[in-house]
Amino acid sequence: MEPAATLVLFDIDGTLLRRAGPHHRQALERAVARVAGVAVSTDGIPVAGMLDRDILLEMLARAGVRGAAARRLLPEIGRAAQNIYVRICPDLRRKVCPGVRALLRALARRGVPCGLVTGNLERIAWTKMRRAGLEEFFSVGAFSGDGPTRAALLRLAAQRARRAGLIGRGARIIYIGDHPNDIRAAREAGARIVAVGTGVVSGEALLAGQPDLYVPDLRELRAAGILDGP
Ligand SMILES: [Mg+2]
Repeated sequence: MEPAATLVLFDIDGTLLRRAGPHHRQALERAVARVAGVAVSTDGIPVAGMLDRDILLEMLARAGVRGAAARRLLPEIGRAAQNIYVRICPDLRRKVCPGVRALLRALARRGVPCGLVTGNLERIAWTKMRRAGLEEFFSVGAFSGDGPTRAALLRLAAQRARRAGLIGRGARIIYIGDHPNDIRAAREAGARIVAVGTGVVSGEALLAGQPDLYVPDLRELRAAGILDGP
């Protein structure tokens, strides 16, 4: 197959899925308790738009575990969180945001490769996609644990898509996300950004970040529309 001229990357929480339940937070909390032996909740941590890695570091800091000691625990906590999430993740087919399936099908018909760029740990991300019935649409991804920032994850996902022959050199990279952090990351990585208002952030706040395009939900976004512009 010819390498495509466009790669569309999607955030997960608030973008592809919403109100997916407390299971992800629970998995992080139980993993910290199991591995670090401290009870901490995610309450009060602004988890939207954050990488799981940073959420875990913040939880550990609140329990008094910081710096190198915290970073040393991360790999094992990450493995535990993923194992727990795989076991407790519910059926998510009814949590798919409006317009998502139609957009993914339209992009697939046009031969546009799609990928995931999310703050979720990798197995948590793929488990959500499988339980939502969306897994088949994504051929590449970058996840918490693959890099230190969301911008680094965007660059990495694009590089993986190029190496896999999905896109050519100079292909346009479009990121779709629901949080000001997604807008900033796309700018930093040189990607175009479509902000969608299905997450916890208001449309006004997203527009203040000056995305290339803002839509209240993905029903407003036609495949042709994002491929021709912004
Ligand atoms: Mg999000």
